[in-house]
Amino acid sequence: MKKLVYLLVLTSLQFINATDDETVKDESKLDKILNEHDWQKFAEYEQELSADSEDKSVDENSNDEEFGSLLADFGRNFNSLPLLAPNGFSCYSCEAPNCSHPHVCAGASHCYTASVRDAHGEEHFSKGCTNTHAFVCKTESYDGRHSHQKHGHSAQYSIQCCQGDMCNENAEFPELEPVPVVEKEPVPSFADQNGHILKLLLAVICPVAILGLLVIVILMIMRYKHNKRMEELNQVDRQYQEEMVGLRAQAAGDSTLREIFDDSMTSGSGSGLPFLVQRTLAKQISLRECIGKGRYGEVWRGVWHGESIAVKIFFSRDEASWQRETEIYSTTLLRHENILGYIGSDCTSRNSCTQLWLVTHYHPLGSLYDHLNRTALSKVETLRILLSTITGLVHLHTEIFGTQGKPAIAHRDIKTKNILVRADGTCVIADFGLAVTHTQTTGETNIPQNPRVGTKRYMSPEILDMSMNMQSFESFRRVDVYAFALVMWEVTRRCMSHEGVEDYALPFHEMVAPDPGFEDMHKVVCVDGFRPLIEERWEEDKVLSGLGRLMRDCWHENSSVRLPALRIKKSLMKIAQLEPKLGLEMSE
Ligand code: ADP
Ligand code: MG
Repeated sequence: MKKLVYLLVLTSLQFINATDDETVKDESKLDKILNEHDWQKFAEYEQELSADSEDKSVDENSNDEEFGSLLADFGRNFNSLPLLAPNGFSCYSCEAPNCSHPHVCAGASHCYTASVRDAHGEEHFSKGCTNTHAFVCKTESYDGRHSHQKHGHSAQYSIQCCQGDMCNENAEFPELEPVPVVEKEPVPSFADQNGHILKLLLAVICPVAILGLLVIVILMIMRYKHNKRMEELNQVDRQYQEEMVGLRAQAAGDSTLREIFDDSMTSGSGSGLPFLVQRTLAKQISLRECIGKGRYGEVWRGVWHGESIAVKIFFSRDEASWQRETEIYSTTLLRHENILGYIGSDCTSRNSCTQLWLVTHYHPLGSLYDHLNRTALSKVETLRILLSTITGLVHLHTEIFGTQGKPAIAHRDIKTKNILVRADGTCVIADFGLAVTHTQTTGETNIPQNPRVGTKRYMSPEILDMSMNMQSFESFRRVDVYAFALVMWEVTRRCMSHEGVEDYALPFHEMVAPDPGFEDMHKVVCVDGFRPLIEERWEEDKVLSGLGRLMRDCWHENSSVRLPALRIKKSLMKIAQLEPKLGLEMSE
């Protein structure tokens, strides 16, 4: 805009034909010409002057002190203007600032009379010739905001034109509008600038800070909840273990960890390490490889004090199972050679995730399910497996009375995958996540609040048709017996006789899909009344036929007809007598 304003005025005035003071070399000569009104002579005189003045215009440019001075532009430019047409009007011509030395110009299409106010506010007057009236003859008022801003007021001009020889001679100089006051644009103060920067910073920093704060608060809440949960879990653990600390405080005295552990293994009271030792268990164990994946967690082989141990890591959603197993394993007098040896429980925090650990003895042969899949069995091996398992179940089912008594425990998830095989071929019962306890004196049956249900394939008819009496602990025992009968069937199939051996198979494998639903099992077991097939081969063998009869008695539809665990054990021992080698072993 600044340039535009300047350019407009400059361009307009470029075509004004006039001479400056210095071009009037001989004033008397000019006066004479003017007095005589000899316009021909005047034109010649003008031409002469123009030729002289051309050289000077360059020098004068450098004298212009200000870009914005209108009159300087005016004076500088008309010296270099082209000569006007010789047949135009002659005009009265005088020079700004005060038009005091008039002379005559010729060949103009218009004569003009100009008033110009410069950037300093001073008015200047001039008259002369023009051939470009369209550009020149006008009145303009600039607000000066841009082109003369630095002076604080504007430049204005009014140029009036007429046609006719010397028509501008007596013309009054046009009046200019009053000077518009140009308000200088307010320069923002330092404080204002700071204010803007501050606002900008606030606009950026505030949301970031709020977001950051929010994240910190959320993290703190999560951390708090996590710590609280850990504390709760520790509390649960402590509950079951506190009495044991008292029991084994003596042993803990100067003993090494290993000694404490050995002592706890042989003490016979409860199971697992002293509680305080358990709290540091996870830190002392290095996990090696995953050896089992159940529906509720993973089982790892780990190394603790140079020995292999098994670590069952529960998914945090199955906290109930971890609690239950910890509780059951902590039961006094539970320790038994046919119950998986318990070392301790720990809840650790890994990457802010709660990990629930249950540490037990490690059995390299793995589960009975794996073992049966791998190998066929001799009769001795078969009976060893069955006898040891039922011995474990008898111990579980039996309540021991006295101050250091043991409640009756029903497992509720007996199956070959929850029975582990020891190196000597005997078995231990594992996975107590669903177990229920019962104490006769109080008549109380403690059923865990656990969304987990038993394995559908092993569910007894009374569970499947929902006729089971949950109030009676005996019902739970009978459910275990039914499941044990199916285990017997799986094991017996793998027992070699003269007639050979069957491949490993899961119960009802030919009747239901690999992961049967409740309805499928109900139809097969309750509606159709199917039971696993007693193979013909078994009938040819005293031991196997004995086992066949026993399992029939144990999976009876009527739960009250099923044999109690102790009776099964006795029957199995009788069958074992038929095997001289095993009979010898048992009598030792
Ligand atoms: P879940 O509750 O997930 O069923 P389990 O306690 O039944 O967990 O263990 C799952 C599997 O892990 C078992 O079937 C077995 O193969 C393996 N396993 C568990 N404990 C041990 C152990 N102490 N030694 C060796 N293998 C084990
Ligand atoms: Mg299991």
